[in-house]
This record gives sequence, C-alpha cells and structure tokens, in this order.
Amino acid sequence: METFILSESVDVFSFLSYLNDRMKLDNENRQKLVRLRKGDEGEKAFLKMFESLYEGEGILFYNFRASYQDSPIQIDFLFISAQSIYMYEVKNYQGSYVQSGDKFRSLSGSQFLNPSVQLTRTHNHFSHMLKELSCTTPIQPFVVFVNPEFTLYEAPVEDPFLFPGQLSSHFKLLNQRSDTIRKSQQRLVEKLLEESKKEATFERKLPTYHFEQLKKGLICYNCGSFALRNNSKNSLCTSCGRTCSLNDLILAHITEFQTLFPHEKLTRNSLYEWCGMEVGERRLWKLLKSHFKLEKSGKTSYYLRKDD
Ligand SMILES: [Zn+2]
Repeated sequence: METFILSESVDVFSFLSYLNDRMKLDNENRQKLVRLRKGDEGEKAFLKMFESLYEGEGILFYNFRASYQDSPIQIDFLFISAQSIYMYEVKNYQGSYVQSGDKFRSLSGSQFLNPSVQLTRTHNHFSHMLKELSCTTPIQPFVVFVNPEFTLYEAPVEDPFLFPGQLSSHFKLLNQRSDTIRKSQQRLVEKLLEESKKEATFERKLPTYHFEQLKKGLICYNCGSFALRNNSKNSLCTSCGRTCSLNDLILAHITEFQTLFPHEKLTRNSLYEWCGMEVGERRLWKLLKSHFKLEKSGKTSYYLRKDD
C-alpha cells in the first residue's frame, strides 16, 4: 500500500502545538489545541491500524483536502482500492452518548452534531468532483470511532459507523476484496493529488504572534520542556528522559521556525537566536551548510532547503 500524507506540515495542529510551547495561547486556541490533539491521536491510531492490518494493494491519502464549486472537501482518510473508494472520518470521542436525530447527546446533557451529517455533505461534494474527473468507482463513506471508551446508544444499524470492535473485521473484508491496482486508478490518484495541491491554502484562524514575543531556546518536542542537557552529540530532556541526536533536534527547530515564519528568511542569526544561543555558532553554520544552500540578496545571506 502506498500512503500519501497531505498538508500535514501546514496544519493548524502543528502551528498551535509549536506556539503553545513558546507563548501563552488564549482560551479559545488552547481548547482548540486540546481538541485537535485528541483528533490527531485518533487519526494516528487509525493510520497505524490501517498500515498493520491491510495487506493488499491500494493508495491511502491521509488528510485529503480539495474543493468542489467553492465548497471545501476535507477527508481524514481516503482509500483507493481496486473495487471501491473508501472515505473515513475518524473520531476519537470518549464517553457514552445517545443518538437522537442529527445530534449526539451525552448522558450529562451536552450535545453535538452527528458526524454523519458532515460526512454526507462531504460525500456529495466528493462524488460530484469524481464525476468531473470521469471516475465512476463507487464510494463508501464511514465514520470511524477509534476510542474503545466510546459508547453510542440507539444508532440505527444502517448508519455508516465503524466502532472499535468492528475494525478488525472491516480490514479483513478489505483484504478479501483487494486486487491489483489498475492504470485508471493510478491516473485517478494523480488527478486527486493535483486537486489537493490547488487547495494548499485553507482557512487558518491563528493567534497573531511575532518572532520577538516567542520564547526562544531548544525545546523537547516530546514533552515541550526547555530543560535539556546537551553534549556534543546528543540532547537529553531532563523532564521526560528522551534522548535524540543534537543535529536532528536542531534540524527540527529549523522546521519549526520555517513553519511558524514561512515568509521570514532563514539566516545564521535568526537560527542562532531561535535556538536560544545555546548551540555553538560554528556547529549551526556547519549544519546549515550541509543541509541548505546559501543564497545572497544584497548584504543579507540566507539559507534555502536544498530541494527547494
Ligand atoms: Zn521531554
């Protein structure tokens, strides 16, 4: 199986996670981050399951985004197999809920929209888009509940839901139906990749921030702590105990810098400052030289990724 992970480097979740470690987020964004983190955990769990349980051929898109007549299409997982196209909306809900019309109500009284409503809407837009791409393969949409601590009462059996206890038999069925991917499906994948590229800029409601206001310094991406002990090779986080190569950690800081400041030039000084002046300048220059190419514009020198 081939997996395409789309838009991951620019998603709101990465932005908010990065910012949360380096500034105080307002309440709304903090809550959003908690929600996204939970969703992200659910999606990663489903991806892992897919990759370990599915044994046949197929193409899996993670985080597919496109639009049809200005209506956004966002699909957590899109799977193209020889027979069918599967859409999966993944939910990491926890607790007990009762389905009532197009709402899920918790036993404590809170309620939210039944995710199958959004799924139906997305399914409609996506079917139209496929028709325009001259594809007639049937689409099967599902809402997947990945959390074993989720219970839903009174869901009609025909609803497009997959509960944790049904996932293994779902993948068994996919394995039985799997077949060789044909040229027409490969072409469809190329077209879908094209469509998703058009949708590279999606709405991002982010807090405003400036370089000056963010806390600088090397950070542990596992737990968000700044308490690191570095030697010439490795970095040890004294909060969570994770060790990684210091060079890899610096490269991850460059990714973080470029994600948060896509329009800023990566210069020696900006990186030195971003890393909290904790790493020797010579080491940073050397690392930049081996992974980036040097560009000059007037008096400023800056670095671009070698593959840009
Ligand atoms: Zn840590």
